[in-house]
Amino acid sequence: MADSRDACVVWFRRDLRLSDQPTLLAAADAAPRALALFVLDPRLLGPSGPARRTFLYGCLRELDAALGGKLLVVRGDPADVVPRIAKAVGAATVHIAADFGPYGRERDEVVEKSLAADGCELVRSGSPYAVAPGRVTKGDGGPFKVFTPFRRAWADHGWRAPAETGPRTVEWIDPADKDGGPRAVGIPDDEKVDAELPEPGEAAALRRWTEFLDGGVEDYGGTRDRPDKPGTSRMSVYLKYGCIHPRTILADLARQRSASAGTYRTEIAWREFYADVLHQRPDSARKNYDRAFDALPVASGKGAEERFAAWKEGRTGFPIVDAGMRQLREQAWMHNRVRMIVASFLVKDLHLPWWWGARYFMQLLVDGDLASNQHGWQWTAGSGTDASPYFRIFNPITQGERFDPDGDYVRRFVPELGGIPGKQVHQPWKLQDGIPDGYPEPIVDHKVEREEALARYERVKAAR
Ligand code: FAD
Repeated sequence: MADSRDACVVWFRRDLRLSDQPTLLAAADAAPRALALFVLDPRLLGPSGPARRTFLYGCLRELDAALGGKLLVVRGDPADVVPRIAKAVGAATVHIAADFGPYGRERDEVVEKSLAADGCELVRSGSPYAVAPGRVTKGDGGPFKVFTPFRRAWADHGWRAPAETGPRTVEWIDPADKDGGPRAVGIPDDEKVDAELPEPGEAAALRRWTEFLDGGVEDYGGTRDRPDKPGTSRMSVYLKYGCIHPRTILADLARQRSASAGTYRTEIAWREFYADVLHQRPDSARKNYDRAFDALPVASGKGAEERFAAWKEGRTGFPIVDAGMRQLREQAWMHNRVRMIVASFLVKDLHLPWWWGARYFMQLLVDGDLASNQHGWQWTAGSGTDASPYFRIFNPITQGERFDPDGDYVRRFVPELGGIPGKQVHQPWKLQDGIPDGYPEPIVDHKVEREEALARYERVKAAR
């Protein structure tokens, strides 16, 4: 490839879209032509699990099509690959959206140094968030540890209007045209995934968002907690891969009048809050945010492994928990209310470490996102910022009766209970004929485990 330095590189990562894409504006300012690049990084692909990998490959295919087949996809360590490609196209700049995750931030610093050695600059424009992590601070400049004041300060801070960009903002280099260019590996084939995955890519994200905006957002406040209804937006996976930017969503919400639009904006704020928390405390991806929880005794050994297996398989004998875990397998997604119920059950009924559950979620969830997942888990476990108090222990029976009042959600995912009408499905052990064949007895007694959880919590209190 020529080394005329009249080109730049747009390195896509978690921003697989062309509209509302500030990196394209920066690239168009920097050079007349740009190479679109995606690096298949084994360090990220490995832990992603087949559902997320397959969804990602679908997004890459869509992006490539929108770029007229000009997306260069290579495999390897970005620290080697990106400088090599920048050199090959004679780029003076490589454009990215800033990554604030613990691995991404470190990776980008290494790539930046390596590019600088060749006289090439890594240019960060925007991020996967409306407000970049670290920007919203308390009056004294310190980070927020509690959600509600963060949300207020975040809203006061505000965000830019969506960037007006599209496929033609940049003139794209055709990687196939160039002699001696980097060897492309192409987009891998889909993997074998048992779960039914959402349609990948930017066009699908915009379609889903418009559908929700036109139909669902008005009722969102009333139905978002009901797993038996299609009341939530299902946008998490599109936000995860940047098929849509939260700014686009927030701009559309600002034109809505309903109270539900405000509720939805608060949910977007949770995503931004957790990214901010992970940015200030990268260790919280693996460790208790509140280190007093290191003193909480957790189960271990064969019994713990057996309980964990029953939880994963959706065979705990608690219908709402089992329905949630089976939804996770069938759809690589779980309703937020049920995520809280199954997480609480793992931590407070089975006394297992939250990070066992968090790791399993990250293997299966198509929207698996380190910040939202680890902090969703820590919130439920009581060890996170702004956590729900540890002593507020979810009762899986009353949660089921309240949020799946007719039992439709349970019957949909637990066919063994399909013949039990109404909310009786939440307590099959009370049926006159006994528990239907093939469905297990409850593996624990919730009342007993609740007391046990509270007793264990005393150790945390003593450690403060
Ligand atoms: P909606 O109700 O339509 O919400 C709109 C958007 O707001 C979501 O797409 C998401 O981006 C954001 N949002 C909503 N609730 C939360 C929340 N509690 N925390 C952060 N962002 C939120 N979300 C993920 O995106 N990835 C995860 O890996 C993840 N793991 C979780 C693990 C646990 C234990 C818990 C309790 C929650 C987790 N969440 C996670 C948050 C939430 O469950 C999902 O974002 C939501 O269920 C996605 O469905 P939706 O897009 O239909 O949500």
